[in-house]
Amino acid sequence: MSNQHWMQRDLSVLWHPCTQMKDHETLPLIPIRRGEGVWLEDFDGNRYIDAISSWWVNIFGHANPRINDALKAQLDELEHVILAGFSHQPVIELSERLVALTPEGLNHCFYADNGSSAVEVALKMSFHYWRNLGKRDKTRFITLSNSYHGETLGTLAVGDVALYKSTYEPLLMEAITVPSPDCYQREAGESCREVAERMFVHMEQALARHADEVCAVIVEPLIQCAGSMRMYDPYYLTLLREACDRHGVHLIADEIAVGFGRTGTLFACEQAGIRPDFMCLSKGITAGYLPLSVVLTHEQIYQAFYDDYQNLTAFLHSHSYTGNPLACRAALATLDIFEQDDVINANRALAQVMGDSVAHLKDHPHVADVRQHGMTLAVEMVKDKASGEPYPWQERRGLKVYQHALSRGALLRPLGNVCYMMPPYVITPEQIHLLAEVMSEGIDLACR
Ligand SMILES: *Cc1c(COP(=O)(O)O)cnc(C)c1O
Repeated sequence: MSNQHWMQRDLSVLWHPCTQMKDHETLPLIPIRRGEGVWLEDFDGNRYIDAISSWWVNIFGHANPRINDALKAQLDELEHVILAGFSHQPVIELSERLVALTPEGLNHCFYADNGSSAVEVALKMSFHYWRNLGKRDKTRFITLSNSYHGETLGTLAVGDVALYKSTYEPLLMEAITVPSPDCYQREAGESCREVAERMFVHMEQALARHADEVCAVIVEPLIQCAGSMRMYDPYYLTLLREACDRHGVHLIADEIAVGFGRTGTLFACEQAGIRPDFMCLSKGITAGYLPLSVVLTHEQIYQAFYDDYQNLTAFLHSHSYTGNPLACRAALATLDIFEQDDVINANRALAQVMGDSVAHLKDHPHVADVRQHGMTLAVEMVKDKASGEPYPWQERRGLKVYQHALSRGALLRPLGNVCYMMPPYVITPEQIHLLAEVMSEGIDLACR
């Protein structure tokens, strides 16, 4: 059975995510037969290096033997059980380990089953905390421009990527949007830290003006991934933590994409030495095996909900697959690998290889920026290097890179005009060099 066969059957019954289905009249859909390590293999026998970790979730390769074994063992014990009134070993062990690994003081874990749901939990919990304290004016959230927190209505409302948001605007609550400290917007001679300091003035003003009506500030620490991999300096988070405390506003760290080593540290918040009030985790948590998410929070929040039932202060939120045992088992196996293989340290060398492999692109006539935080690296293509004028989105230059990469055996899926690598940590230096070569060729072709 060939790619063609499966593509036809697929297109007659499926509606794919984040896709204009008409594109598939000309752009072939790629049905995958199997995966192994960084490789994906289709039904025609073509192989592709998964340079984007299958939408940022896969961190230890496909069909990882260690995670497979853990899951097989769990399957024979328990596949799922209700998490209200009942509990199970994997979710307890996972919670203990997450509490130990995340910033000091985050000691209560609330589970959901995907990233958007975790953000919804954090937003609702923050709002509900203030309500339990009698602060009923606190109903709003502050977010950064160009941020992304998911696709549900609540998360779109606190996001700011127009492509996903603008259509649904009439349905959304109104967030307070503050300009982001995006280092791509730096002025000549300015460092990322200086950008962070300069841009923080806007956040300070928003907090001073709106603190009475604001529940929380929500940010993606260090990298706005869906917002074209724009990056900023950790110093912004340090300033933000201090200001949130001073103004009596929560800080929600959405580490759904950046958590589990993507920025070089296990969690991005570590680089600023801060503890958020809520930390949302998903994506890499199960190494891309199963849907799972969790919100960690501290004692003070937990205690504001802890009361006699009749007082109706409980957080009555749930999802059917909350804390699924198979997903938790995959997460435990993932944490084992981090520990046993000293992954964060080993990644330092890989990150260096990634940076070196594309360093030459800084001189490309249509590349305005090559940026990196640890295991995430992005290259910004522009129409005019001197002015930074972007290519019009309608030209879909990134799609040309994507198509070229496929023909060369790589899954590189640019975000608009931004090409990036966010590979599984089992990638080798040779494979990184191959990706860099394919990316360079793709950029040459796309920028003709
Ligand atoms: C992917 C993502 C989400 C949403 O997670 P889903 O599992 O896709 O709902 C939220 N926040 C960030 C930063 C993300 O990258």
